[in-house]
Order: sequence, then structure tokens, then C-alpha cells
Amino acid sequence: MSLNLDAEQLDRYSRHIIMDDVGPEGQAALLDSSVLVVGAGGLGSPALQYLAAAGVGTIGIADDDEVELSNLQRQVIHGNDDVGRPKVDSAREFIARLNPDIAVETYETRVSQANVDELIDGYDVVVDASDNFPTRFLLNDACMLADIPLSHGAVYRFEGQATTLTGSPCYRCLFPEAPPEGAVPDCATAGVLGVVPGTIGAIQATEVVKLLLEEGEPLDGRLLAYDARDMAMEFVPIAPNPECPVCGDEPAIESVADGEYSGACTLGD
Ligand SMILES: [Zn+2]
Repeated sequence: MSLNLDAEQLDRYSRHIIMDDVGPEGQAALLDSSVLVVGAGGLGSPALQYLAAAGVGTIGIADDDEVELSNLQRQVIHGNDDVGRPKVDSAREFIARLNPDIAVETYETRVSQANVDELIDGYDVVVDASDNFPTRFLLNDACMLADIPLSHGAVYRFEGQATTLTGSPCYRCLFPEAPPEGAVPDCATAGVLGVVPGTIGAIQATEVVKLLLEEGEPLDGRLLAYDARDMAMEFVPIAPNPECPVCGDEPAIESVADGEYSGACTLGD
């Protein structure tokens, strides 16, 4: 790790550096870190914003979508002029404007069983900012198997949830399988209050920065459930499930090739 912060970095990150809990060592650790954000939508927007602002040195962005007008109600890193452009391009430009210190790797692809191991390889932390159950389960399984911490977030109407997986228990301990198709409302019809993914994505960025700084207590073993209607935040304990197909006593999934990644879509971004 290099502590050789230059004058501009000392200025840019001064509000971190003056904190005892961060200091120049913590800032250097952030600059030496790499985080992959899967999804540059509603959750990915604030996550990318704050990770880039915080000086996370290498940020990967995986997304195969183009910006649509209906995204702009919540996906705040994209602008009106970006409609029709790949989200990874728009996200890259946003980060370059905010903080040229950051190396950005973009993957204009849908995360799949075929590419997930290669995509996450070498990243210190992965952020699940996706909008569907198959990707959520795939990232859980791949990150558990590769021993890479994963920040989970999801939103639905006025509600959101977040947890941080740093080993057992995992997302499948809570939800062994994706809900059957039709059990949750369709992506386009469910709707989401635009600011809710902003809150949850910012919580995900907070969790990632804490992990990279090795400060505080992450949301591992706890699911934060947020309801914007009454500003309620509850913490649901997640217990390791001995029957879990990934982290249980006799795991059925020993590589992502063993998993089933289909099922219902939900509005997660
Ligand atoms: Zn598990």
C-alpha cells in the first residue's frame, strides 16, 4: 500500500483524512481497492457516486442496458442527453467528471453463469445493484464460492432492503430459491418511489467503504428492511441454514454451473 497521497488527493479527501478512523492510511487503502458494481441503475447510481467520490481506486461497472427516459426518475448518474446510450458509457463519464483519480472498467454484458467467475475475479467487494432474482442468486453463489464480500440491495415501491454477505450466512440461507414466475409483480408494473433506491444504494456504498476500511459492524447476518412510508428500519436476523445449498453442511452448489438461475423478475433498481 502506498501512502504517497499527492497534494490534490490530500485536499480532495481531506474530510476523510482528518478522521481518526480513516486517516491517510484508510484513504490509501480505499485508493488501492477495487469494487465491482453490477447494475448501473437506481441502486448502482448512488453506489457508484459515493464509491467514486470516496476514492475507491478501481471501479468496475457491469450493465448491458441502455439509458431510457423512464430510468431518469431514479437513476441519477444518467442525464437526458444519455437516453439511448449504454449505461456503462454514461456511468464512466459521470465518474470521470466527479473524480479523475478513479480507474473505471466497464463490462457491457449481462452477468451470466458463463461469465460471472471471470467478472468478479480480483475485485475486493462486489455490489449487487441488479434488478432481478437470477442475477441476485448468481452473484450470491459466485461471491460465496470465491470468498468475495457482496453487498445486496433491492427495492420495491416504498420499500427497500440491504444486507452484506461476508461468508455464511448467505442470501440463500434467507431465500433458498427464487420465487416462481408470477409470484412477484412484473418489473415494469411494480413501480418504485424514485428516492428509495437512492437510500438503499447509499447504504450499500456505506457498507462497502466500511468493509474496505475495516471499520464498524457490517450488515452481515442482518437484513435491513426499510419502509419509506413510516420511515421504519428493521433488522431481520439471518441465521446460517445448515440446509443451504451454497454454505450449508452438504452444499449442492459447488460451482455456478450447478445452480439454477431463472425465475421471476422484480424491480430492484
Ligand atoms: Zn447460505
